[in-house]
Amino acid sequence: MSDLKGRVCEAVDRLEPRLRAVSKEIYENPELKFEEFRASKLLADELSAAGFEVTLGVAGLETAISAEHPAKGEGPTVAIIGEYDALPGVGHACGHNLIAAAGLGAALAVGEVKGELPGRLIFFGTPGEEGGGGKVIMVEAGLFGGVDCAMMFHPASHTVVDWGSLAISEVEIEFHGKASHAAGSPEKGINALDAVIQTFNGINALRQHIKDGARIHGIITDGGAKPNIVPEYAAANFYVRAEDNDYRDELLEKLRRCAEGAALATGASFDFRIVGHPYKAMKPNRVLGGAFVENLRALGWELNPPKDNAMGSTDMGDVSQVVPSIHAYLQICDEDIAGHSREFAEAARSERGQRAMLTAAKALAMTAIDVLSDPGLKERMWEEFRAP
Ligand SMILES: [Zn+2]
Repeated sequence: MSDLKGRVCEAVDRLEPRLRAVSKEIYENPELKFEEFRASKLLADELSAAGFEVTLGVAGLETAISAEHPAKGEGPTVAIIGEYDALPGVGHACGHNLIAAAGLGAALAVGEVKGELPGRLIFFGTPGEEGGGGKVIMVEAGLFGGVDCAMMFHPASHTVVDWGSLAISEVEIEFHGKASHAAGSPEKGINALDAVIQTFNGINALRQHIKDGARIHGIITDGGAKPNIVPEYAAANFYVRAEDNDYRDELLEKLRRCAEGAALATGASFDFRIVGHPYKAMKPNRVLGGAFVENLRALGWELNPPKDNAMGSTDMGDVSQVVPSIHAYLQICDEDIAGHSREFAEAARSERGQRAMLTAAKALAMTAIDVLSDPGLKERMWEEFRAP
């Protein structure tokens, strides 16, 4: 291991009690998307204390952080990313407390030796990953302009670096019908709930004809008020996911036609809206990923990729479409435990979770050293990124 890599690992060991405390504090005070006031302040304060030039509140997001190390030389620009939002009801069931602590640890560790390295080091605190699209907004605001690579760790039930994510869009469909007495004069009503049910039926028929890996899943958010009133209003919410952005868009159009058909069949009118920020598919950079894997192995941590092709979605996808990126998963629990579950939330505060966080901090820091000290690596990352 090079001298600098050894030193960043020693730094993480020294920072361990603080990183564990940061992870615990965020875990015990779960904050939903864009309400991460406590977590973002905590991270911003730690980075400020270490001499980073910190802006809390960037891209119009109060809880987004941009923190740059003051030693800025000519050379590559490395961005290390931390997430910190929680989920409603299940708290840190996605383990973003560990992502925040690992990203902070990596940034602080590289910061300690940054004076001896060329290039720039930036930590981005990216809020609202769970449905808010914090990174989408930060990409659109131009924060990743001039960045040469972005990297983050995510806890998981496997260890895999070279892994994609699904492009996703959220859709809201509303139907307007006509209320009437459901027994006395049903013939005078137009049943908006029937339109929702027909939409689900249409989508279920569509499933046979969609590509493997695509996902369409929805809930009924409004199904009427009482059985004796023909529902005049009903609504559903769907997530549409696919392995690439274009196919996701194609599926959205098919979904719209299912709703249109249901409206025609029932006589209801409909509104079809994309809500929030769609996430792009992850484009993992294999050159950067390869460097990360080597560092992970040097730390004695082996890969353990899933046997199936199960993927979620992340707004890191949008970052990966503008700069070479990795979203590295490290295992914190048994393979059969699902993300966003109570069991995963337990793992996010377990000793196994903390060990993964500390290993991830080291591997991220070591990979940052690779990029900053080897200009050829930057060239190879961008070559791969630009390849068709
Ligand atoms: Zn997550």
